[in-house]
Formats: sequence, C-alpha cells, structure tokens
Amino acid sequence: MPVPLYTAEDLAVFSTIIARAACMRGWDADLGQGAPTAIQEVQCMQLGDALYFAGNGIEHMAIASYFRAFGVSDHTSLINCLKYSHWLLSTPAHQRSAVVGRAFAGGYSPQETATLNYAAASLVAHIPALSAQEITDARALVTTAALPAAPVRGLAWCLRKFAGAAAIAGLNRPAATLFNYPVNYNGLHEINLLNDSTNVHAELKLLRLLTYTRTQNLLHGTASDARVGGLKRTCAFCAAWINRFRPWIGLQYRVTLTLPANDTRAMGGGAGDRPSGVGEAGFGNYVQALFNGGANSLCVDVAAHSNDAEW
Ligand SMILES: [Zn+2]
Repeated sequence: MPVPLYTAEDLAVFSTIIARAACMRGWDADLGQGAPTAIQEVQCMQLGDALYFAGNGIEHMAIASYFRAFGVSDHTSLINCLKYSHWLLSTPAHQRSAVVGRAFAGGYSPQETATLNYAAASLVAHIPALSAQEITDARALVTTAALPAAPVRGLAWCLRKFAGAAAIAGLNRPAATLFNYPVNYNGLHEINLLNDSTNVHAELKLLRLLTYTRTQNLLHGTASDARVGGLKRTCAFCAAWINRFRPWIGLQYRVTLTLPANDTRAMGGGAGDRPSGVGEAGFGNYVQALFNGGANSLCVDVAAHSNDAEW
C-alpha cells in the first residue's frame, strides 16, 4: 500500500515509540542478553511515498537492530512494529503480568509521554490497538516454553525480548536488514533509516537528505511537501538553521517544509554540527554557510548573507 499522507504530529508519534522501544533492549543480542543503548533523539520525515528516520550520532544503529528484529520492511510492517511496541510500553506496570504474561520494567519517559500527549490525536488515529484475540495470542507467545509455529516465530522473539522472557531453543533473532539503510537518497523505498553517523542533529540529517534530492536532481519537481516530526522539539540552534533553510529550499526548489504545529513541548538544548555534502560549493555564500559542516549556532553568519545577490 502507498504510505498515507502523515502530518508532522503523526511523525512525532512514530519517532517517540521508536525512540523508547529501540533503547529498551539490546536488540542486536539474543534473548536475555545484550545491553540497552541510550537514544537522545529520533526524527522522521515523510517525502512523497517514503518515510525517512534518523537519530543523533550513531543512534541509527540501535534503531536498525530494533527494526531488523521486528522485520520492518515497508509501511505495513512498520505500523505492525509500532502497534506491538506501543501495546507493550503503554500497558501499566501492575497489569503486565496479567495482560502480557510477564512483569517487566521500563516504559515511556516523561519527555516521551509529553510528546504522546501533545500528539494524542495522532496516536489514536494511526497506532492500532491490539484486538482481544491478538492479546491472547501475544500472551501465549510470551508465556510458552515450547518453540512456536514457524510463521509467528519472529513476533515471538520480539515479544519475549521486549518482556525479558527466557530463550527457547530454535527461536532465533531475525538478522536480515529488510528496510532501506542508505547514507544518501538512493531511490524510492517506503522505509528508510539514514546510516549517517555525523555529529548533526537528527532533523538536520533529514533536511540534508531532502536537499540532496534536489541539488542532485533526484526528485526534482516531485515530493515537494516535506513533513518532519520527532521525539523532541527542535533545539534553538536547529530552529535557527531551519529558519534560514526553509525560505531557501522554498524559493530555490518550491519545497515546503512543515514541522509540528503549535509545539508546546519544552525546547531541548545541546549543539550539533551543520550538515554538508549536498553540492553546496555550487551555490553562494548563504548556502555554503548553511552546509559548512561546522558547529551550528544561532546562524547569525548565515543571516548576514540573506541579502546577497545569489544564495
Ligand atoms: Zn538540534
């Protein structure tokens, strides 16, 4: 199925569930093994029929392991992954033993809860609840001591990993990467995770990819309505960068960029680098400053070039 038209708020919900679920467990290790990895940020961008995810620093590696475990390959399997993850995370701790079949620690942080509350309408609209039968079946996969039937082994492994249930001989971690895992845009794929380890904040990694699709003539004239939503509200430096980026990408390529509206969440701190490597040398000082790869700031230096004859 094509990817539905999601709002920036919808994308913030996806990012939030992924951020918590990916750092709950060491998804690259077998059942009962591996340590969780902290995740600062997950951001998601929709561009036409494709979703792009990015994390800060090397956090994409933990997200990749989580996606791999759940067999995320396309939009349908992504929503299935989010559905089961949100069910596990949102089941209250005192009900987990009865509902899920095992008591386990961990859930949404106050920051994550703030985003889910901010985008509550998106959560209800796009993350399906499990049916009574699905809950019964999931609980059976968590509590069984026998190897489940082949078609449900992937789900069984994920549920048991999430809930901290014991290993079963023959129940193995899904290891293949089924989603697209590129550094740069490399064609149309529904689910893309940016394999980008630069010290650039997640949302700017996504906007770098968006820019790359235009400067390299890869999506020229199509998919020109970009939406971006993440776990956290954009930090002050990224917001300043976006304030300079948005008018340029609009005028140069007729691309509109939408972020979560009326964002009441606290503004995060922290500083990352500016992106680079989009062919910026072919542009004027304004674009070269935006994409200089140096430490980001309030972008006063970019603003100084806003009246230049050329971008
Ligand atoms: Zn930032």
